[in-house]
Parts: sequence; C-alpha cells; structure tokens
Amino acid sequence: MLEKMEEFDQEKVIEEFEALTKDAERVQRETLKKILEENESAEYLQSLGLNGRTDIESFRACVPLVTHQDLESYIQRIVDGDSSPILTGKPITTISLSSGTTQGKPKFIPFNDELMENTLQIYRTSFAFRNREFPLGNGRALQFFYSSKQFKTKGGLAAGTATTNVFRNSMFKKAMKAIQSISCSPDEVIFGSDFHQSLYCHLLCGLIFRDEVQFISSTFAHSIIFAFSSFEQVWEELCNDIRTGVLSSRINVPSTRTAMSKLLKPNPELADLIYKKCSSLSNWYGLIPELLPNAKYIYGIMTGSMEPYLKKLRHYAGGLPLLSADYGASEGWIGANVNPKLPPELATYAVLPNIGYFEFIPLGENIEDRDHNNMESSFLHMEPKPVGLTEVKLGEEYEVIVTNFAGLYRYRLGDVVKVIGFHNSTPEIKFVCRRNLLLTINIDKNTEKDLQLSVEEAGKLLSEEKLEVVDFSSHVDLSTDPGHYVIFWEISGEASQEVLKECCNCLDKSFVDAGYVSSRKVNSIGALELRVVRRGTFQKILDHYLGLGSAVSQFKTPRCVGPTNNLVLQILCANVVKSYFSTAF
Ligand code: AMP
Repeated sequence: MLEKMEEFDQEKVIEEFEALTKDAERVQRETLKKILEENESAEYLQSLGLNGRTDIESFRACVPLVTHQDLESYIQRIVDGDSSPILTGKPITTISLSSGTTQGKPKFIPFNDELMENTLQIYRTSFAFRNREFPLGNGRALQFFYSSKQFKTKGGLAAGTATTNVFRNSMFKKAMKAIQSISCSPDEVIFGSDFHQSLYCHLLCGLIFRDEVQFISSTFAHSIIFAFSSFEQVWEELCNDIRTGVLSSRINVPSTRTAMSKLLKPNPELADLIYKKCSSLSNWYGLIPELLPNAKYIYGIMTGSMEPYLKKLRHYAGGLPLLSADYGASEGWIGANVNPKLPPELATYAVLPNIGYFEFIPLGENIEDRDHNNMESSFLHMEPKPVGLTEVKLGEEYEVIVTNFAGLYRYRLGDVVKVIGFHNSTPEIKFVCRRNLLLTINIDKNTEKDLQLSVEEAGKLLSEEKLEVVDFSSHVDLSTDPGHYVIFWEISGEASQEVLKECCNCLDKSFVDAGYVSSRKVNSIGALELRVVRRGTFQKILDHYLGLGSAVSQFKTPRCVGPTNNLVLQILCANVVKSYFSTAF
C-alpha cells in the first residue's frame, strides 16, 4: 500500500475519482453498508434497533440526527478509557480536539485509521488535479504546519488536534513525499512546543531553501498571512541569522534549536540578497515570489472564514496563483478541490462518495441570495428533512450531515453549503458559512457571511486612507436596552475619527436583513457600535486558543463571540481603544 503511494500515479488517481463519482449513488449505498457492518456491534447502533440492517431507508428511520452535544456522554466514556464497542466496533484509540472557535472550547471527536486513510485520499485526489494544471518541479514545500500538544486522556487515549493526529501518523510523511509535498522545515519545528519559535524557524527554513521551494501552504490560509506579517517584523533578524550562521537567541526550545543549527550555515550572499529584495519592496507587495522565486502557487483553505484575508494574501502573493485546499473537519473530510484554476472566491469541493455517507438538510432559502425583504422566511426554522448526496439540487443550500467510519452517525456538522454543479453524479459544493454563527437580537438574523459583507463594505472607506481591517469579530450586547451589535476591528494603522464614524455608520447600513433594518428604524435594536481594538489583539486571541490546546494550523478567528466564549470577549473588551456608535438611523 505504502509502496504504491510512493510512486504516485496522477492519471490513475484521477481515473479512480472519475469512477467513484460516476456512480455516486451506488457508492454511497455501499459506503453506508460498510460503515454499518463494521460497527454493527457498537452499543449506540444496537440501541437504535437497526438489528443488522444496512440499507439507507432503515438507517434513516432508526438513527436520529444528532449534534456533538447528543454524543458527548458516549464520547466521554471513550475518552475515559472504556474500550467496549460504544460508537465503533473497534475501540477508538485516538481523539481529535476540534478547533473549538465556535463554542469557545475544543470538542472531543473520535479519530481512527479510516479517517486517516480518507485524509490521504482527499490529499491525493486534489493533488492529482492540481498537479495537472500547475505541475511542480522537484523540491520542497514551505508549509506553515504546527502541531498542538498531544496528551493522554484520563483513559490513556492519545489526544491532539485533528491536524496533529494526521501529521503524527506514520503514513503521513510517505504520502506527502509521494505528492511532492515534503516540508523544508524539520519535524522539530513542526512539532516544536512554542508556536512563535516554530513560525520563525519555518520562515528561516523557507529562506535557506529558497531556490527549492515549489509552493507555500498551510491548512487554513490564515497561518500564511500571519507568517508573512510576522516576517515584516523579524526579517532583519532572519537576515542576520543567515549572515552569521548563528540562530537568534529567541529560539530556546532545545530540540528546535539543535535541528535548526544543523541547517544554518553562514551565507552572507543570501543574507545580502534577501536584505536587498526586502528593502526594495513597496509596502511588502509581492513579498512571497521575491523571497521564493520558484514557487508555483500558494495553497491552503481560503474559503469561508478565510475569505476576509484574501486581499492581504494577494498583496503578499503578487502574481502567484492562490489555490484553495479541500473541505473537511475534524469529524471527517467531505470534498476535494478538483477545479484548482478557480479563484478562491469561486472554489468548489467535489464530495468523495466513498469517505462517508452524506446527507443534506435543504435550507429552503439561500442565505447568499436572501431576499432581505422577506422577514417571514428564515432558514433557521425549517424542519430538517435531509436528502441524499445525489438528490441535492443545483443552486440550493443545505446543512451537511455526516456519517463517518469513526463513530459519528447522522451528525450535524453545522456547515451551510451551496450546490454549484456536479462532477459526474457527485455534487460540487461551495462552503457558505457556519450555520449557528449568527447575530440576532429579535427578528433580525445575520450570518457570518452577512457580517463579512458588511465589514468588506465599510472596510472600503478605510482603504481610501491606505488602511485595512486586519481582523474582526462581533458580539451581541444585550446589557444595553435595547440590545445592539458590537463590531470589533483591528486596523493596520491610525484612522481619523471622521473616517471611523463613517465606517461605523456604513457597517450599520450594510446589514440589509429586513428584520435588522426595521428594528433599527423603530429602535428595538440600538445603534451599532464599532469598537477599535489595539494592534495585536487578535494575536492574543490566537494565543488564548493555543493555551486551550488548539493548534494554529486549525485556527479560525471567531467571527461572533457569544456568551459561551467569555474569555475571548474579555480579551476583546480589554483592548478597546476607541468606540463609536452609529448615527445611520
Ligand atoms: P475544525 O473544527 O478545526 O475541524 O474545522 C472544521 C470546520 O472548518 C468546518 O466545519 C468548516 O466550518 C471549516 N472549514 C473546513 N474546510 C473548509 C473550507 N474548505 N472552506 C471553508 N470552511 C472550511
């Protein structure tokens, strides 16, 4: 198996994908059968009265739709060391911690060899399509990968973020080698215990191997932008390390220091070259291709909550293509990007019909093209009546339901997707937003996407001043009467009072949801408040999540901070430097 992976056969992988997707309905039926057969002895399935039946109809009739909360007591027993068949036939020995940016604390999710195999299948599939359009030469990848701490649960199971479980798996390196994705950083950097030090070393490795680097990647694109904005701060120090061959004293994790010291040799020519290139850039535009002249593209998840960072990423990327990576979650993968030429804003994911059994709850009304005058119809109040993978309709939006090989059955992932097309008979979906991320006070309903659009609109006023929104979040403040929306902005520099007042009004006006607008008009929702936070506040939030055991690789800025996320709210509020109330209504 591994031998086979080492000789990667691009056309064969594409052929296999074509075959799977040509008969997605049959493959789904067989996949469900396989999952149910493998896990027939699981207490959870037994209790639901399937009695060995593996057909779709019985499955849907017996097994309820669930959320993570419904499964928590089962998962907790597994985490605590009960090795009886609880959710799966074979005992679960590894646990993934989801990034937990939505709820404020990481969730425990079962991980096993099948999920690992699914991960590699997704990687291979999208690589085959990507490499056909953007072939890589021999070389390495500058990958901003970070591992979380891995620890043992009370019951002795290995626990870490899903990406950490993948990176640490023995199959990972071989698979990455096969798809020409070997990192230029040593393991001691990827698995280093201090994220900031690992980031510095990744950058240094990128420079040392600058001629070899074929592409730049991270799991979520945020890590790439974060890395290059850190580069702006430390580039002279990096040049100095290269010039002298002596690693900066900021690196004090012994294993990281030893590994890096082996790579670093005095190279004054390279230091001069980088120094010259950085000095001649205008506002760091095109930094990435200047530093890494042989890079073919930038790769990472760029859709959903990553979209607001695209502008900044394009700035660093100059003309280098941005290719969005695949779609999945700690709960399992869903689709691969098989149209790599599409810009991230249009990226779609073709669902792989053999990596899980998928259902979709129709949302009835598109969040994206919502008729904001129609207050009655709300996607939130639809009765969940899921349809199968091949029953979804073009142009419709759905909530994704996953049944996987690791003990999740009819699990509501909480993501909203839209069907954009079909690859053979499997849908190509676009990620729309998280379903439960919502600003609402009374009859108003604004999703993550609405917030993003509103911030984009108001952000245009800043760009006239050559400033930009570095990051943002929001909160519903019910401590005032009436309650009101609070938008937190971190800005790249000092904006004038006038401009910020205008931005605040523009934010308020840009929420065009009819429920919001009418409530604002009669003041049953108070004036929107824009709170500008200190530079570095969002980094503090990231550090906060790292402290909870989450990994930078999976970090997504929480776009709406609810009451369950009190600590993040405290960080935001403690760093407010200015605040404005809208006078738009
Ligand atoms: P995690 O909790 O870290 O496992 O993150 C999984 C979540 O990240 C998914 O449920 C999505 O909300 C989001 N996500 C994953 N892949 C993508 C993608 N390609 N585009 C947009 N959002 C994504």
